[in-house]
Amino acid sequence: MDHDLIVCGGGPAGLCTAIGAAEGGADVLLIERSKVFGEPVHDSGGSFSGILEEWDLPERIVARRILGTNLIPPSGEVITIDHTEPLGIILERRELNKELAKKASSLGVRIRIDERVVAPIIDGGSLTGVRSVTSEGVESETTGKVIVDATGVGAVLTRAMGMYPEPVKVQRVLGCQYEMADVDIENRDHIDLIFGNRVAPGAYGWIFPKSGNTAIVGLGIHENRIRDRPLGFFLKRFLETEYVAKAVKDAQPIEYHAGVFPVGPMFKSYVRGNFVSIGDSGCQGSPHLGEGIRFVMYNGRIAGQVIGEMVKEGRDEDDLMRIPKRIKKEVYPNYKLLFNIYKKAITLTDDHWNKVLPVIGRYAQSEKGRQRVYKFFYGSITLREMMGMSKEYAFAFRK
Ligand SMILES: Cc1cc2nc3c(=O)[nH]c(=O)nc-3n(C[C@H](O)[C@H](O)[C@H](O)COP(=O)(O)OP(=O)(O)OC[C@H]3O[C@@H](n4cnc5c(N)ncnc54)[C@H](O)[C@@H]3O)c2cc1C
Repeated sequence: MDHDLIVCGGGPAGLCTAIGAAEGGADVLLIERSKVFGEPVHDSGGSFSGILEEWDLPERIVARRILGTNLIPPSGEVITIDHTEPLGIILERRELNKELAKKASSLGVRIRIDERVVAPIIDGGSLTGVRSVTSEGVESETTGKVIVDATGVGAVLTRAMGMYPEPVKVQRVLGCQYEMADVDIENRDHIDLIFGNRVAPGAYGWIFPKSGNTAIVGLGIHENRIRDRPLGFFLKRFLETEYVAKAVKDAQPIEYHAGVFPVGPMFKSYVRGNFVSIGDSGCQGSPHLGEGIRFVMYNGRIAGQVIGEMVKEGRDEDDLMRIPKRIKKEVYPNYKLLFNIYKKAITLTDDHWNKVLPVIGRYAQSEKGRQRVYKFFYGSITLREMMGMSKEYAFAFRK
Protein backbone atom coordinates (compact mmCIF):
# COMPACT_ATOMS: atom_id res chain seq x y z
CA MET A 1 0.00 0.00 0.00
CA ASP A 2 1.21 3.52 -0.84
CA HIS A 3 -0.34 5.05 2.29
CA ASP A 4 -2.07 4.07 5.54
CA LEU A 5 -4.87 6.51 4.74
CA ILE A 6 -6.07 8.38 1.67
CA VAL A 7 -8.37 11.31 2.44
CA CYS A 8 -10.35 12.48 -0.60
CA GLY A 9 -11.37 16.13 -0.25
CA GLY A 10 -9.70 18.89 1.74
CA GLY A 11 -12.63 20.72 3.32
CA PRO A 12 -12.95 20.96 7.11
CA ALA A 13 -13.98 17.29 7.40
CA GLY A 14 -11.15 15.88 5.29
CA LEU A 15 -8.47 18.15 6.74
CA CYS A 16 -9.45 17.32 10.34
CA THR A 17 -9.53 13.61 9.51
CA ALA A 18 -6.03 13.90 8.06
CA ILE A 19 -4.83 15.86 11.09
CA GLY A 20 -6.34 13.35 13.56
CA ALA A 21 -4.78 10.38 11.78
CA ALA A 22 -1.36 12.02 11.31
CA GLU A 23 -1.28 12.96 15.01
CA GLY A 24 -1.78 9.26 15.70
CA GLY A 25 1.23 8.38 13.57
CA ALA A 26 -0.51 7.32 10.33
CA ASP A 27 1.01 7.96 6.91
CA VAL A 28 -1.67 10.12 5.26
CA LEU A 29 -2.26 11.39 1.72
CA LEU A 30 -4.90 14.07 1.10
CA ILE A 31 -6.17 14.77 -2.41
CA GLU A 32 -8.03 18.04 -3.04
CA ARG A 33 -9.78 19.00 -6.27
CA SER A 34 -9.37 22.77 -5.99
CA LYS A 35 -6.29 24.77 -6.85
CA VAL A 36 -6.68 26.74 -3.60
CA PHE A 37 -7.81 25.32 -0.25
CA GLY A 38 -11.12 26.91 0.72
CA GLU A 39 -12.15 27.87 -2.82
CA PRO A 40 -14.76 28.16 -4.09
CA VAL A 41 -16.39 29.42 -0.89
CA HIS A 42 -19.82 27.85 -0.51
CA ASP A 43 -20.90 28.78 2.99
CA SER A 44 -21.24 31.74 5.30
CA GLY A 45 -18.65 30.81 7.91
CA GLY A 46 -20.82 31.15 11.01
CA SER A 47 -19.29 29.15 13.86
CA PHE A 48 -18.18 29.21 17.49
CA SER A 49 -14.84 30.24 18.92
CA GLY A 50 -14.14 26.85 20.57
CA ILE A 51 -12.71 25.65 17.26
CA LEU A 52 -9.89 28.19 17.55
CA GLU A 53 -8.58 26.70 20.79
CA GLU A 54 -9.38 23.14 19.85
CA TRP A 55 -7.34 23.30 16.63
CA ASP A 56 -4.92 26.00 17.75
CA LEU A 57 -6.06 28.32 14.94
CA PRO A 58 -4.98 31.98 14.73
CA GLU A 59 -7.35 34.85 15.54
CA ARG A 60 -6.86 36.25 12.02
CA ILE A 61 -9.19 33.61 10.58
CA VAL A 62 -12.00 35.34 12.50
CA ALA A 63 -13.73 38.04 10.46
CA ARG A 64 -15.86 39.10 13.44
CA ARG A 65 -16.74 37.97 16.96
CA ILE A 66 -20.48 37.76 17.58
CA LEU A 67 -22.22 38.78 20.80
CA GLY A 68 -25.84 38.14 19.92
CA THR A 69 -28.55 37.26 17.42
CA ASN A 70 -31.41 39.24 15.91
CA LEU A 71 -34.35 37.07 14.92
CA ILE A 72 -36.55 38.66 12.26
CA PRO A 73 -39.98 37.11 11.63
CA PRO A 74 -42.05 37.96 8.53
CA SER A 75 -43.69 40.83 10.47
CA GLY A 76 -40.31 42.62 10.40
CA GLU A 77 -40.14 42.95 14.20
CA VAL A 78 -36.52 42.68 15.39
CA ILE A 79 -36.07 40.32 18.35
CA THR A 80 -32.64 40.67 19.88
CA ILE A 81 -31.03 37.96 21.97
CA ASP A 82 -27.70 38.68 23.60
CA HIS A 83 -25.60 35.59 24.00
CA THR A 84 -24.54 34.47 27.46
CA GLU A 85 -20.92 34.46 26.31
CA PRO A 86 -19.33 36.07 23.25
CA LEU A 87 -18.59 32.76 21.60
CA GLY A 88 -20.01 33.17 18.10
CA ILE A 89 -17.60 33.89 15.26
CA ILE A 90 -17.80 34.60 11.55
CA LEU A 91 -14.88 32.94 9.86
CA GLU A 92 -12.73 34.13 6.99
CA ARG A 93 -13.80 30.98 5.26
CA ARG A 94 -10.87 30.38 2.93
CA GLU A 95 -8.41 31.02 5.73
CA LEU A 96 -9.86 28.24 7.90
CA ASN A 97 -9.13 25.59 5.27
CA LYS A 98 -5.71 27.01 4.51
CA GLU A 99 -4.74 27.03 8.19
CA LEU A 100 -5.95 23.45 8.61
CA ALA A 101 -3.97 22.46 5.51
CA LYS A 102 -0.83 24.08 6.99
CA LYS A 103 -1.41 22.15 10.19
CA ALA A 104 -1.85 18.91 8.26
CA SER A 105 1.36 19.59 6.36
CA SER A 106 3.29 20.26 9.57
CA LEU A 107 2.19 16.83 10.83
CA GLY A 108 3.58 15.13 7.72
CA VAL A 109 0.37 14.74 5.68
CA ARG A 110 1.21 14.47 1.97
CA ILE A 111 -1.01 16.88 0.03
CA ARG A 112 -1.93 16.83 -3.67
CA ILE A 113 -4.06 19.73 -4.93
CA ASP A 114 -5.69 20.45 -8.28
CA GLU A 115 -6.46 16.73 -8.49
CA ARG A 116 -9.90 15.20 -8.64
CA VAL A 117 -10.72 11.78 -7.21
CA VAL A 118 -12.88 10.04 -9.79
CA ALA A 119 -13.41 6.46 -8.62
CA PRO A 120 -12.52 3.83 -6.08
CA ILE A 121 -10.17 0.99 -7.05
CA ILE A 122 -11.78 -2.33 -6.22
CA ASP A 123 -9.48 -5.34 -6.39
CA GLY A 124 -10.88 -8.81 -5.81
CA GLY A 125 -13.94 -7.30 -4.14
CA SER A 126 -11.83 -5.15 -1.77
CA LEU A 127 -11.36 -1.41 -1.83
CA THR A 128 -7.64 -0.83 -2.30
CA GLY A 129 -7.32 2.79 -3.43
CA VAL A 130 -8.53 5.61 -5.63
CA ARG A 131 -8.22 6.81 -9.20
CA SER A 132 -7.64 10.52 -9.65
CA VAL A 133 -6.88 13.01 -12.39
CA THR A 134 -5.27 16.44 -12.34
CA SER A 135 -6.77 19.43 -14.16
CA GLU A 136 -4.14 18.85 -16.85
CA GLY A 137 -5.41 15.31 -17.38
CA VAL A 138 -2.63 13.40 -15.59
CA GLU A 139 -4.18 10.22 -14.19
CA SER A 140 -3.04 8.37 -11.05
CA GLU A 141 -3.87 5.26 -9.13
CA THR A 142 -2.96 5.37 -5.45
CA THR A 143 -3.43 2.62 -2.90
CA GLY A 144 -4.25 2.96 0.80
CA LYS A 145 -5.22 0.75 3.73
CA VAL A 146 -8.13 3.05 4.64
CA ILE A 147 -10.01 5.37 2.26
CA VAL A 148 -12.00 8.37 3.51
CA ASP A 149 -14.54 10.20 1.35
CA ALA A 150 -14.69 13.84 2.47
CA THR A 151 -15.68 15.30 -0.90
CA GLY A 152 -18.66 17.18 0.55
CA VAL A 153 -22.15 17.10 -0.86
CA GLY A 154 -20.90 15.49 -4.11
CA ALA A 155 -19.98 12.39 -2.04
CA VAL A 156 -18.06 11.00 -5.00
CA LEU A 157 -16.88 7.76 -3.41
CA THR A 158 -19.86 7.25 -1.09
CA ARG A 159 -22.08 7.18 -4.17
CA ALA A 160 -19.67 4.98 -6.12
CA MET A 161 -19.61 2.53 -3.19
CA GLY A 162 -23.43 2.40 -3.32
CA MET A 163 -23.71 3.83 0.19
CA TYR A 164 -25.56 7.05 -0.62
CA PRO A 165 -29.21 6.69 0.44
CA GLU A 166 -31.69 7.41 -2.30
CA PRO A 167 -31.59 11.16 -2.95
CA VAL A 168 -35.21 11.41 -1.93
CA LYS A 169 -34.26 10.37 1.63
CA VAL A 170 -31.79 13.23 2.02
CA GLN A 171 -33.28 16.65 2.69
CA ARG A 172 -31.24 19.33 0.95
CA VAL A 173 -31.12 23.09 1.29
CA LEU A 174 -29.78 25.16 -1.58
CA GLY A 175 -28.12 28.39 -0.58
CA CYS A 176 -26.70 31.48 -2.21
CA GLN A 177 -25.24 34.69 -0.88
CA TYR A 178 -23.27 37.81 -1.65
CA GLU A 179 -20.39 39.09 0.34
CA MET A 180 -21.17 42.81 0.19
CA ALA A 181 -19.26 45.99 0.94
CA ASP A 182 -20.89 48.97 2.68
CA VAL A 183 -23.64 47.03 4.40
CA ASP A 184 -25.38 49.27 6.89
CA ILE A 185 -26.26 47.34 10.03
CA GLU A 186 -26.95 48.92 13.38
CA ASN A 187 -25.17 46.41 15.58
CA ARG A 188 -22.21 44.76 13.92
CA ASP A 189 -21.70 42.39 16.85
CA HIS A 190 -24.99 40.61 16.12
CA ILE A 191 -26.01 38.30 13.33
CA ASP A 192 -29.45 38.55 11.71
CA LEU A 193 -31.50 35.43 11.05
CA ILE A 194 -34.50 36.21 8.85
CA PHE A 195 -37.46 33.83 8.64
CA GLY A 196 -40.54 33.39 6.52
CA ASN A 197 -41.91 31.35 3.67
CA ARG A 198 -41.76 34.16 1.18
CA VAL A 199 -38.24 35.18 2.19
CA ALA A 200 -36.54 31.79 2.55
CA PRO A 201 -38.95 28.86 2.08
CA GLY A 202 -37.82 25.82 4.04
CA ALA A 203 -34.80 27.51 5.62
CA TYR A 204 -33.88 31.10 6.58
CA GLY A 205 -31.95 34.14 5.45
CA TRP A 206 -28.93 35.71 7.11
CA ILE A 207 -26.81 38.81 7.41
CA PHE A 208 -23.45 37.91 8.96
CA PRO A 209 -21.26 40.95 9.62
CA LYS A 210 -17.59 40.57 8.74
CA SER A 211 -14.69 42.98 9.15
CA GLY A 212 -15.17 46.66 8.32
CA ASN A 213 -18.50 47.27 6.66
CA THR A 214 -18.64 43.99 4.77
CA ALA A 215 -21.22 41.30 5.47
CA ILE A 216 -22.46 38.03 4.08
CA VAL A 217 -26.06 38.45 2.92
CA GLY A 218 -27.88 35.37 1.74
CA LEU A 219 -30.44 32.66 2.21
CA GLY A 220 -31.23 28.99 2.01
CA ILE A 221 -34.24 27.35 0.38
CA HIS A 222 -35.42 23.78 0.74
CA GLU A 223 -34.97 22.11 -2.64
CA ASN A 224 -38.64 21.11 -2.78
CA ARG A 225 -39.65 24.77 -2.54
CA ILE A 226 -37.49 26.02 -5.43
CA ARG A 227 -40.02 24.95 -8.08
CA ASP A 228 -37.66 25.41 -11.04
CA ARG A 229 -36.98 29.03 -10.21
CA PRO A 230 -33.30 30.09 -10.29
CA LEU A 231 -31.61 30.76 -6.95
CA GLY A 232 -31.00 34.33 -8.09
CA PHE A 233 -34.75 34.91 -8.11
CA PHE A 234 -34.88 34.21 -4.38
CA LEU A 235 -31.73 36.21 -3.63
CA LYS A 236 -33.11 39.25 -5.48
CA ARG A 237 -36.42 38.98 -3.64
CA PHE A 238 -34.55 38.59 -0.34
CA LEU A 239 -32.50 41.74 -0.98
CA GLU A 240 -35.74 43.62 -1.65
CA THR A 241 -37.45 42.68 1.62
CA GLU A 242 -37.79 45.70 3.87
CA TYR A 243 -35.32 44.67 6.57
CA VAL A 244 -32.59 43.55 4.16
CA ALA A 245 -33.18 46.37 1.66
CA LYS A 246 -32.47 48.92 4.40
CA ALA A 247 -29.16 47.20 5.25
CA VAL A 248 -27.96 46.88 1.66
CA LYS A 249 -29.26 50.16 0.21
CA ASP A 250 -25.70 51.47 -0.40
CA ALA A 251 -24.03 48.05 -0.55
CA GLN A 252 -22.34 46.41 -3.51
CA PRO A 253 -21.55 42.72 -4.03
CA ILE A 254 -17.87 41.76 -3.97
CA GLU A 255 -18.30 37.96 -4.07
CA TYR A 256 -21.10 35.55 -4.95
CA HIS A 257 -21.24 32.07 -3.43
CA ALA A 258 -23.67 29.20 -3.80
CA GLY A 259 -23.84 25.73 -2.32
CA VAL A 260 -25.95 22.81 -1.25
CA PHE A 261 -26.25 21.64 2.34
CA PRO A 262 -27.41 18.06 2.88
CA VAL A 263 -29.46 18.63 6.00
CA GLY A 264 -30.11 15.06 7.04
CA PRO A 265 -30.91 12.54 8.23
CA MET A 266 -27.32 11.47 8.89
CA PHE A 267 -26.61 8.22 7.06
CA LYS A 268 -27.15 5.12 9.18
CA SER A 269 -24.16 3.50 7.55
CA TYR A 270 -21.11 5.56 6.63
CA VAL A 271 -18.41 3.01 7.46
CA ARG A 272 -17.98 -0.15 5.45
CA GLY A 273 -14.86 -2.31 5.68
CA ASN A 274 -11.92 0.04 5.17
CA PHE A 275 -14.09 2.89 3.81
CA VAL A 276 -15.40 5.87 5.79
CA SER A 277 -17.54 8.80 4.63
CA ILE A 278 -17.01 11.94 6.73
CA GLY A 279 -18.60 15.39 6.64
CA ASP A 280 -21.25 16.49 4.15
CA SER A 281 -20.52 13.36 2.12
CA GLY A 282 -22.07 11.43 5.03
CA CYS A 283 -24.69 14.10 5.75
CA GLN A 284 -23.10 14.90 9.10
CA GLY A 285 -23.64 18.63 9.55
CA SER A 286 -25.95 19.76 12.30
CA PRO A 287 -29.46 19.81 10.82
CA HIS A 288 -31.34 22.31 12.95
CA LEU A 289 -29.55 25.49 11.80
CA GLY A 290 -27.46 24.07 8.98
CA GLU A 291 -24.20 24.46 10.88
CA GLY A 292 -21.75 22.02 9.34
CA ILE A 293 -18.21 23.30 9.81
CA ARG A 294 -17.72 22.74 13.54
CA PHE A 295 -19.54 19.42 13.56
CA VAL A 296 -17.72 17.88 10.59
CA MET A 297 -14.43 19.01 12.13
CA TYR A 298 -15.29 17.08 15.32
CA ASN A 299 -16.36 14.07 13.29
CA GLY A 300 -13.23 14.24 11.16
CA ARG A 301 -11.00 14.34 14.20
CA ILE A 302 -12.73 11.29 15.67
CA ALA A 303 -12.42 9.39 12.38
CA GLY A 304 -8.73 10.35 12.12
CA GLN A 305 -8.00 9.32 15.70
CA VAL A 306 -9.64 5.92 15.26
CA ILE A 307 -7.84 5.34 11.95
CA GLY A 308 -4.51 6.41 13.52
CA GLU A 309 -4.99 3.99 16.41
CA MET A 310 -6.05 1.21 14.08
CA VAL A 311 -2.95 1.61 11.92
CA LYS A 312 -0.53 2.06 14.82
CA GLU A 313 -1.84 -0.79 16.91
CA GLY A 314 -2.30 -3.10 13.91
CA ARG A 315 -6.01 -3.61 14.59
CA ASP A 316 -8.26 -4.84 11.81
CA GLU A 317 -10.80 -2.71 9.96
CA ASP A 318 -13.70 -3.75 12.22
CA ASP A 319 -12.15 -1.22 14.57
CA LEU A 320 -13.47 1.55 12.28
CA MET A 321 -16.95 0.84 13.59
CA ARG A 322 -15.82 2.79 16.66
CA ILE A 323 -16.15 5.94 14.51
CA PRO A 324 -19.98 6.05 14.35
CA LYS A 325 -20.17 4.95 17.99
CA ARG A 326 -17.89 7.78 19.13
CA ILE A 327 -19.61 10.36 16.89
CA LYS A 328 -22.99 9.40 18.29
CA LYS A 329 -21.77 9.62 21.87
CA GLU A 330 -19.38 12.57 21.73
CA VAL A 331 -20.82 14.83 19.01
CA TYR A 332 -24.44 13.93 18.46
CA PRO A 333 -26.17 12.46 21.52
CA ASN A 334 -29.13 14.68 20.45
CA TYR A 335 -29.02 14.22 16.66
CA LYS A 336 -32.59 12.97 16.38
CA LEU A 337 -33.83 15.99 18.31
CA LEU A 338 -31.89 18.42 16.09
CA PHE A 339 -33.29 16.79 12.96
CA ASN A 340 -36.83 16.83 14.35
CA ILE A 341 -36.49 20.55 15.12
CA TYR A 342 -35.57 21.12 11.48
CA LYS A 343 -38.49 19.01 10.24
CA LYS A 344 -40.88 20.97 12.45
CA ALA A 345 -39.44 24.35 11.47
CA ILE A 346 -40.01 23.80 7.75
CA THR A 347 -43.72 23.25 8.35
CA LEU A 348 -44.22 26.62 10.07
CA THR A 349 -46.37 29.23 8.39
CA ASP A 350 -45.48 32.92 8.44
CA ASP A 351 -48.14 33.39 11.08
CA HIS A 352 -46.38 30.78 13.25
CA TRP A 353 -43.02 32.53 12.82
CA ASN A 354 -44.61 35.84 13.80
CA LYS A 355 -45.82 34.22 17.03
CA VAL A 356 -42.96 31.88 17.88
CA LEU A 357 -39.95 34.18 17.51
CA PRO A 358 -41.21 36.86 19.95
CA VAL A 359 -41.86 34.08 22.47
CA ILE A 360 -38.24 32.91 22.13
CA GLY A 361 -37.16 36.52 22.57
CA ARG A 362 -39.16 36.86 25.79
CA TYR A 363 -37.96 33.47 26.98
CA ALA A 364 -34.36 34.64 26.53
CA GLN A 365 -34.90 37.64 28.82
CA SER A 366 -34.23 35.53 31.93
CA GLU A 367 -30.74 34.20 32.54
CA LYS A 368 -31.94 30.59 32.45
CA GLY A 369 -33.90 31.22 29.26
CA ARG A 370 -30.95 32.94 27.62
CA GLN A 371 -28.68 30.04 28.44
CA ARG A 372 -31.17 27.59 26.98
CA VAL A 373 -31.61 29.58 23.81
CA TYR A 374 -27.81 29.75 23.54
CA LYS A 375 -27.62 25.96 23.93
CA PHE A 376 -30.26 25.75 21.20
CA PHE A 377 -28.12 27.83 18.82
CA TYR A 378 -25.02 25.83 19.81
CA GLY A 379 -26.82 22.58 19.04
CA SER A 380 -26.26 21.03 22.48
CA ILE A 381 -29.85 21.39 23.66
CA THR A 382 -31.35 18.25 25.22
CA LEU A 383 -34.87 16.94 24.80
CA ARG A 384 -35.66 17.84 28.42
CA GLU A 385 -34.46 21.43 27.95
CA MET A 386 -36.33 21.65 24.67
CA MET A 387 -39.52 20.46 26.32
CA GLY A 388 -39.23 23.36 28.74
CA MET A 389 -38.89 25.75 25.83
CA SER A 390 -41.51 24.01 23.71
CA LYS A 391 -44.23 24.63 26.28
CA GLU A 392 -43.62 28.29 25.56
CA TYR A 393 -43.84 27.63 21.80
CA ALA A 394 -47.00 25.59 22.18
CA PHE A 395 -48.50 28.51 24.04
CA ALA A 396 -47.50 30.84 21.20
CA PHE A 397 -49.18 28.58 18.65
CA ARG A 398 -52.48 28.68 20.51
CA LYS A 399 -52.64 32.48 20.61
C1 LIG B 1 -25.21 28.32 1.58
C2 LIG B 1 -24.57 27.56 2.72
C3 LIG B 1 -24.26 28.25 3.89
C4 LIG B 1 -23.68 27.56 4.95
N1 LIG B 1 -23.35 28.26 6.07
C5 LIG B 1 -22.72 27.63 7.08
C6 LIG B 1 -22.32 28.36 8.23
O1 LIG B 1 -22.50 29.57 8.33
N2 LIG B 1 -21.71 27.68 9.24
C7 LIG B 1 -21.48 26.34 9.17
O2 LIG B 1 -20.93 25.77 10.11
N3 LIG B 1 -21.85 25.62 8.07
C8 LIG B 1 -22.44 26.23 7.03
N4 LIG B 1 -22.78 25.51 5.92
C9 LIG B 1 -22.47 24.06 5.87
C10 LIG B 1 -20.97 23.82 5.59
O3 LIG B 1 -20.60 24.51 4.43
C11 LIG B 1 -20.68 22.34 5.36
O4 LIG B 1 -21.37 21.55 6.29
C12 LIG B 1 -19.18 22.06 5.46
O5 LIG B 1 -18.45 22.82 4.55
C13 LIG B 1 -18.91 20.58 5.21
O6 LIG B 1 -17.53 20.35 5.17
P1 LIG B 1 -16.95 19.13 4.32
O7 LIG B 1 -15.49 19.16 4.53
O8 LIG B 1 -17.72 17.91 4.61
O9 LIG B 1 -17.31 19.49 2.81
P2 LIG B 1 -16.78 20.68 1.92
O10 LIG B 1 -16.53 21.89 2.73
O11 LIG B 1 -17.72 20.78 0.79
O12 LIG B 1 -15.37 20.17 1.41
C14 LIG B 1 -15.27 19.16 0.43
C15 LIG B 1 -13.92 19.31 -0.23
O13 LIG B 1 -13.74 18.24 -1.15
C16 LIG B 1 -13.25 18.74 -2.37
N5 LIG B 1 -13.70 17.81 -3.42
C17 LIG B 1 -14.94 17.68 -3.94
N6 LIG B 1 -14.96 16.70 -4.87
C18 LIG B 1 -13.70 16.22 -4.93
C19 LIG B 1 -13.08 15.20 -5.70
N7 LIG B 1 -13.77 14.49 -6.61
N8 LIG B 1 -11.77 14.96 -5.50
C20 LIG B 1 -11.05 15.68 -4.59
N9 LIG B 1 -11.58 16.66 -3.86
C21 LIG B 1 -12.89 16.92 -4.00
C22 LIG B 1 -13.86 20.13 -2.48
O14 LIG B 1 -13.10 20.95 -3.36
C23 LIG B 1 -13.80 20.59 -1.04
O15 LIG B 1 -12.59 21.21 -0.71
C24 LIG B 1 -23.40 26.16 4.85
C25 LIG B 1 -23.71 25.47 3.67
C26 LIG B 1 -24.29 26.17 2.61
C27 LIG B 1 -24.61 25.43 1.35
